[in-house]
This record gives sequence, structure tokens and C-alpha cells, in this order.
Amino acid sequence: MTPAKRKITILSGDGIGPEVVDAAIAIIKATGVAVEFEKCEAGARAFEKGIVTGIPKDTIQSIERNRVVLKGPLETPIGYGNRSANVTLRTLFETYGNIRPVRELPGVQTAFTGRALDIVIVRENIEDLYAGIEYMQTPGVAESLKLISREGCEKIVKLAFAFALAEGRKAVHCATKSNILKLTEGLLQHTFEELAPGYPSITSKHILIDNCAHQLAMRPEQFDVIVTTNMNGDILSDLTSGLTGGLGFAPSANIGNDVAIFEAVHGSAPDIAGKNKANPTALVLSGAMMLRHIGEGKAANDVEQAVLVTLESGIRTSDMMGVDKPASTTDFTQAVIANLGKTSRLSPPKKYAEVKLPPAQLGVNVVSAKDRRLAGVDIYIESNLEPKGLAAELEKLTTSSPFALQMITNRGAIVFPASDRRVSLVDHYRCRFVLRDSAGKFGDPEILSLLGSVGARFRWMHIEKLQEFDGEQAYSKSQV
Ligand code: NAD
Repeated sequence: MTPAKRKITILSGDGIGPEVVDAAIAIIKATGVAVEFEKCEAGARAFEKGIVTGIPKDTIQSIERNRVVLKGPLETPIGYGNRSANVTLRTLFETYGNIRPVRELPGVQTAFTGRALDIVIVRENIEDLYAGIEYMQTPGVAESLKLISREGCEKIVKLAFAFALAEGRKAVHCATKSNILKLTEGLLQHTFEELAPGYPSITSKHILIDNCAHQLAMRPEQFDVIVTTNMNGDILSDLTSGLTGGLGFAPSANIGNDVAIFEAVHGSAPDIAGKNKANPTALVLSGAMMLRHIGEGKAANDVEQAVLVTLESGIRTSDMMGVDKPASTTDFTQAVIANLGKTSRLSPPKKYAEVKLPPAQLGVNVVSAKDRRLAGVDIYIESNLEPKGLAAELEKLTTSSPFALQMITNRGAIVFPASDRRVSLVDHYRCRFVLRDSAGKFGDPEILSLLGSVGARFRWMHIEKLQEFDGEQAYSKSQV
């Protein structure tokens, strides 16, 4: 009896998606590897049918069965109502790690040719601003919540080191904006610094994300693996793809404990969709990462090498620099198929080992504190009063409260106690109240009573407790 073929869920995607996905399927089939493809719908067509997540039930069931997906780019509808189908997929299947490798490719001329770039961005894929938790606090002020967990940081740091070990890499940088976002971005930095000594064979270093972008443009060869938060990683990986030839060449893997989704870094490229012009390399190399993931290392190497040989031979799509007669998507695909079995002169196969994922943690992960104290509360208020007038009214309303008004900020700047600086004000204030008696034991009843007093006169939209955990202040001080 012939063994059952491994099934892969295919999401062709929007724009150039079907063109590049078909190219990848044709090349993978031509290797003779024992896989079977199950095509499912997602993205624009699903949104048109009124499915607000962009992912139909059948598609979800197929992914649950097959646990491996090769996908084309999905358009994100702009405006209110629909979510990003990409974010839904990542969240639904908790593909928490996004691995985005780039390297110098033979025949692909760039400003960095000859510098042997080989960089991998390992991006946290679930949390951060891309959770898309947003509110209009007032008709004129929007809010986005950046939630970062210790659990999420641990998982992505461990994945970055596991990946570095599997590929025999030498260094992992952690890139964050912890100088400004001390608690959120700082949590990734601290977790990284805590875990890094557990990987003594790998050099580890923290770098600020803005300097990292600068260094990537100046001396990119100093980087090997870079681990970072979700939005930083999204931006940085488009930058690294630009260093090695552009989005048309950048593959990626979204890794979770149960499901892995392989896709190009690029989007649906509506400007060239349907013209048989798209460069399929990124999607085809994502297909090679997928084959490696399911244990088909030989087929993965064959696909990768055939792409490299094709590029080396000067066959180029129109997105490459210095192309006179560009090959179409289908011509390029046929050339790759014809080159299966050949080995690149300039870039022979690399050695890969299995990536040993950190074990899945089940249940609720708790980070506890022995001692907790409430220090105060920030109340967000909509008001057209000037800061002095607002402060006077708030002080009047709270004379008998255990909380006293400490400061008011507007667009992040302190406007009470009075500052000499003239800032442009909006009708949205953060009013910080702190306990008059710092040794006092107060809690929710006192906060609710304060909110009642303030709310009787002002419209409030949001509150945030000011807490201390084990004597450490668990909130940010105001900047200025
Ligand atoms: P894009 O990546 O689609 O295009 C940026 C530029 O790169 C365009 O000029 C495009 O022609 C070019 N390009 C991209 N891929 C190419 C390829 N394979 N060959 C040749 N040229 C290529 O980015 P965008 O225009 O900002 O986004 C378009 C849509 O894609 C948006 O709806 C966005 O939300 C979505 N998107 C989806 C994903 C995903 O599914 N993972 C990722 C990024 C963007």
C-alpha cells in the first residue's frame, strides 16, 4: 500500500497571491515529494460574503486537520468593521513566532552584494499593538493598547535561540525600544537578558530598535538573528528584505505549537496583480521552509537550490534591479522546475537541524507578586476646560477623598501643576490621583467613590490603577 500523502492547506490569497501560490505548488509537485494540497478560501472573497474575520469555518477546519498551511498574501480591508484576516489566522492558531530569513542571493544585485548577508528576524507574532485593541476615547482622540506578556516574551526568546541553534548561528540580538517603553518593550529586554545565559554557545546582545535600523543600513553583516516585538519586527523585516533584493525574495514561517503557516513577507501587490509579473521567489522559498518543517529536507533543498540556480543563470522578474528583458511569473516558474536537481555554484545547500520548539505551556500562566499596593489611579477625562480650571474643579470635587490630584497631562505633556511651556491642547486629559496617606490601605471601593465624584461633573472614558508589585512601581512616570 502506498503511504498516505501529507496534506497541506492552501490559501491562494488576494492580488498576486494566486499567481505566486500556483508557482510554488507547481515547483513542489515537480520535486515528486509526497504531499497533497487542499485549497481553501480566505481574505477578500470571504469578506465580500460577509465573513467579518475573512476566514470561513471550512478553512479553519482544514487548518485544524492539516496543521500546515502555505498561504498567499491576504488584503487587509481599510476602515472600520473587518479585522485583518492575517492577524485572525495568527491569533486563532497562536502562531506566536514569525521567522523571516533573508540572505544574499546569487544574481540578485543590491547595494550590499558581496557582503554575504544572512540575517533572520524572529518576530513576536501575537501580542503588542497588532492585537489591534483600539478605542476612540473621544471623537478626536484614539487609543491603541500595547499589551506584552512575560509568557509571550519567554516564548519568542526561546524560539529565537532554538532557531539559532538549529541553523548553527553564532549571535542573537534583541532589538527593543526599552529606553522609552520601559515596561512593555523593557519586558522583552529583561526576559532576553535573563534567558540568554542558558545558551552559552551563542553571543547575545541587546540593541535599541532605532539604532538597529541604522546599523542594518550601515553594517548589516554584523547581524545574524534578531529577536524583537511584533510591530518592530514587521517594519524591520521589510527593511532586511530590501537589503537582499526586495520583498519579492523574502520568505517567512509563522510558527506555533500546533500549526505552522508559511507565506511571503510581501502583500497582495495590487499594482501588479493579474499581470503575470510577480516574482514568485518569496512564496517558493516559503514553500521550501514548509517542506523542511514537515521533515522533507531533501525536497526543501531541491526547491531552494533550483531557485538559486535560476537566479544565478540571470533569469529575472521585473522587480529586480537592472533587468532588460524580464521573465514572467510563469517563465520563471518553468525555469525553476527545469533546474530541479542542480546545485548552485555560489550558494550550495546549508545544513539544517530540526528546530526544537519550547514545550507548550497549558493552563493559565501566572506571574505572582508577594506584595501589592495601590498607589493611586489615572482617570481619563473629556473636557474643554483649560488645565488650571479643570484642576480647580477636580480638587473641589475630591476634598474628602483619600485620593488627591497629583498631576494632569494632555497629549503626554504635564499641564498641571502649571508648566511654562505652551503645548497644543486637546479636550482629553489624563488626571493622576494618588493616595494622600501613602501608608493607607485603600482599594476598589475608594476608587469607585472617586469615580462617582468625578463622573458627576465630567465625562470619563478610561481608568488605570497605579500599582506597586513587591515594592516596584508598576506604572510609568510622566515624561515631562
Ligand atoms: P505589498 O507588499 O503588496 O507591495 C509593496 C510593493 O512591492 C509594491 O510595489 C509591489 O508591487 C511590490 N511587490 C510585492 N511583492 C512583490 C512580488 N512578489 N513581486 C514583485 N513585486 C512585488 O505591500 P502593500 O502595497 O503595502 O500592501 C498591499 C496589501 O497587502 C494590503 O492590503 C496589505 O494589508 C496586504 N498585506 C498582506 C500581507 C500578508 O498577507 N501577510 C503582508 C503585507 C501586506
